[in-house]
Amino acid sequence: MSDIEQTLSIIKPDAVERSLEKEIKEIFIKNGFSIIQEKKIQIEKNEAEKFYKVHETKPFYNDLCSYLSSGPIVVMILEKINAVKSNRELMGSTNPKDAKEGSIRKKYGISIDKNSVHGSDSIENAKLEIDFFFKD
Ligand code: UDP
Ligand code: MG
Repeated sequence: MSDIEQTLSIIKPDAVERSLEKEIKEIFIKNGFSIIQEKKIQIEKNEAEKFYKVHETKPFYNDLCSYLSSGPIVVMILEKINAVKSNRELMGSTNPKDAKEGSIRKKYGISIDKNSVHGSDSIENAKLEIDFFFKD
């Protein structure tokens, strides 16, 4: 049985800054995702710290949180069959250098930190991340 899932996607500051929002959304649509909800926001650093709490012991945590809160981002709920895995594949590897041809990070990513998009890594985290941005 195939499951319709939802996942959280973020178009990160480096991509919004380069006006790639529309192009990246079109890639999602072309690949069968529906954008169920979306908003363009800028978050405070302390909110980025909550969002990325799983990485709090990593050496890149502080820079990562500064970066995510450095400019506008577009947060979206994407829906598709097997959305979580499908979005991870479409995004490509964390480091754009390792990302496969045709992936969003290969096409647009600048570096491992400025890699243009975020996507939930599990169904459980997708639910938590969707609630984080869209609850209320
Ligand atoms: N990141 C970084 N340096 C690293 C690893 C990760 O700046 O060495 C950043 C990068 O923006 C990445 C985010 O931290 O997207 C979260 O890391 P994760 O390992 O969860 O990668 P993702 O799930 O985004 O592919
Ligand atoms: Mg991750």
